[in-house]
Amino acid sequence: MTGRGMTALVYTGPKTLVLRQEPVPAPGPDVLVRVAHVGICGSDMHAWAGHDARRPAPLILGHEVAGTIAAGAEAGRRVTVNPLVGCGVCPACRAGRANLCAKRQILSMPPRPGGFAEYLTIPAANLVTLPDSVPTAVASLAEPLACGWHGIALAARVLGPIGTGSRCLVQGGGAIGLGAALVLRSLGVKDLWLAEPLAARRAVVAGEGIAVFDPVAEPGPDGVDLVIDGVGIPATRKAASAAVRPGGAIVHIGLGGGADGYDIRRITLQEIAVLGSYTYTPADFRATAAAMFDGRLGPLTWPEIRPLSQGVEAFDAIAAGQSAAPKIILEP
Ligand SMILES: [Zn+2]
Ligand SMILES: [Zn+2]
Repeated sequence: MTGRGMTALVYTGPKTLVLRQEPVPAPGPDVLVRVAHVGICGSDMHAWAGHDARRPAPLILGHEVAGTIAAGAEAGRRVTVNPLVGCGVCPACRAGRANLCAKRQILSMPPRPGGFAEYLTIPAANLVTLPDSVPTAVASLAEPLACGWHGIALAARVLGPIGTGSRCLVQGGGAIGLGAALVLRSLGVKDLWLAEPLAARRAVVAGEGIAVFDPVAEPGPDGVDLVIDGVGIPATRKAASAAVRPGGAIVHIGLGGGADGYDIRRITLQEIAVLGSYTYTPADFRATAAAMFDGRLGPLTWPEIRPLSQGVEAFDAIAAGQSAAPKIILEP
């Protein structure tokens, strides 16, 4: 395969993607994976808009990948991919927190081309084997779901176990927010609300049996133990600092932008913990995959699947706010 061409969706400049032939990457010490499904993330949209200096054009974006090992002794093994590669030797990596490694690499950021292509390479340690029962389209959700899983794990360090008696608010009905809500439900949380302004997305969230409301029109719950902010804009931060109970926690995952919004006086006087949460640890990624595989997070059929050849249209639809699905997954 190496030396031959593959079809890839290449980001060539702001708001420009080109479907073209690229060389199949040489695996070197890594594993060559044939991409079956790859999700479009908010961070891909951010890079596509030309707002991410860490992702300069030309570049293959995409880091939410599942597929099949394409070469070597393990060829044919179906896998989902942890796209975050730590150095393995620094204090953060040795503490199990590769997401904080100063030398971490991530698929879709140089020097690692991403998954909007037929093939990619990744270290063997970043692969999680799929059971036969789990389709690759579902398995490609491991990455965004692991972001919520990790945020909830961080909150549990402050709040203690999160479960049946917990009151939780999730902001944002994209894959991270909906995924976090599904993780909370799997932990037994019954008092659970999700805030989402887009009506079409509220319908998808409601279809998963999660109580959902429009934060523009309704105040939503107050006195909650935990807020998961899957959006990360001034309006969600303002709402989060009002909704959380004294001694509660806010987990900030979304990278929507801006810096203001938090009521720092209330956060101080009420001893509210604000926790930044970035991606996931290797252990959290594997734990998320295990929860997906045994059905704890539900059937996970809410993404919309499109061929890679319609990737340009998919990016345009998401940018225009015309996508109801919490996630669009491309199929090379
Ligand atoms: Zn992502
Ligand atoms: Zn490291």
